[in-house]
Amino acid sequence: MAADWKSIEAETVAQLQTLIRFDTTNPPGNELELAEHLVRTLEAEGIATTLLSPAPDRAAVIARIRGNGSKRAVMLMAHMDVVGVEREKWTYDPFGGVVQGGYLYGRGAIDDKGMLAANLMAMLVLKRAVVETGLQLDRDVIFLATADEETGGLYGIKWLVENHRDLLDAEFAINEGGRTRIIEGGKRYLAIQTAEKVSYMVTISARGPAGHAAIPLDGNAIFRLARALAKLADYREPVTLTTTTRRFFGLLSRMWPVAEEATAMADLVSDEPGRSERGANVLSRIPVFNAVMRNGISPTKIAGGIAGNVIPAEASAAINVRTIPGFEIADVVARMQEYIGDPELSFLFAAHTDAAPGSDPDSAMFNAIAESANELDPEMTVVPYLSTGGTDSAHLRRIGVNCYGILPFPMQQSDEERMHGHDERVPVESLHFGVRLIYESILRVASSA
Ligand SMILES: [Zn+2]
Repeated sequence: MAADWKSIEAETVAQLQTLIRFDTTNPPGNELELAEHLVRTLEAEGIATTLLSPAPDRAAVIARIRGNGSKRAVMLMAHMDVVGVEREKWTYDPFGGVVQGGYLYGRGAIDDKGMLAANLMAMLVLKRAVVETGLQLDRDVIFLATADEETGGLYGIKWLVENHRDLLDAEFAINEGGRTRIIEGGKRYLAIQTAEKVSYMVTISARGPAGHAAIPLDGNAIFRLARALAKLADYREPVTLTTTTRRFFGLLSRMWPVAEEATAMADLVSDEPGRSERGANVLSRIPVFNAVMRNGISPTKIAGGIAGNVIPAEASAAINVRTIPGFEIADVVARMQEYIGDPELSFLFAAHTDAAPGSDPDSAMFNAIAESANELDPEMTVVPYLSTGGTDSAHLRRIGVNCYGILPFPMQQSDEERMHGHDERVPVESLHFGVRLIYESILRVASSA
């Protein structure tokens, strides 16, 4: 079946521009009008679509192309809301969808309206193939657009899981959360997110005698807390590799452009303990690699004191701890406690995101994405990836959907860093690559042929 990709490309650009022009800055979100546009677009092509309403002006869209039901469904998901903008720092209107110099600019161009547009186009092209060429599908293909991802999903994925779980039943889902990275020398890799770290807030509190600052007191709570934090600064959780991260480093080592780091990656995944340790030491110096190798500990807030001349009775620090799936936060906190070695401190912790199992990096869906990527770009290395940040996928993994996070647009890190920043933009060619990647992946995993 030969889809007319040239005209689809023009349609994709126009779609993404339209999506960007709906201002869905969250808060407040106001995704309803964008959702209605999606419903109109999908229904115009004969795709059965449902508009759900979690709250006034909020929305979720679920559309479905039916298969013969011999396999469980596959889902394409993206969120409709975007984070706010500092307008004066943008070169182009953040809600204008301007195309300039090979880039499409706008808030959401890469997070997550680019993917929303790519998912939408994949649905439309798929439906046309069903209608025009009699393409048969083994499974339903579901399109899901959610609200409220950027502020936690209360009116988005959480609401859907609680109220419409039946509509979300799928074996696989493709979501945001991965990377398609262009690195030094133009080499490319696609990191498919199969698992994400779990985020906890740990509060360390120190108590001490309160009094007038004119009379210095031993056991001052602020000094005590400061000593604890200074100690903690030297602490690192042990290196732990999972199936995903072992494969991530092993595969990247074969294509990584920086020789020292490539060697370190190969060393890390070797079975020789000394060598593995050497590799870990080198990679620990690179923050992003360090973060995927071990549970992360980052102090984020500090509080204590009420006046400049009063010694407070208490001082506390908030520590964001992100664990690799499979770790118990209580064990991590116990190790922190032991390392700091002050039995008078109190440690409290609470989950910030929910723990979820990882998705199978050997599934038909993972392989379909990898094969499609290599068909489009034979030089692209495909690796499974543990993300240090959280996405909506955690909620679906908890109810048995194997989610795969991709950001299907080949980009350099500098462009990717515009996500949530100024002049967010997607290379137009990369946008087209993303549509093809999603479409071909769905075709591979869902078509009966
Ligand atoms: Zn996002």
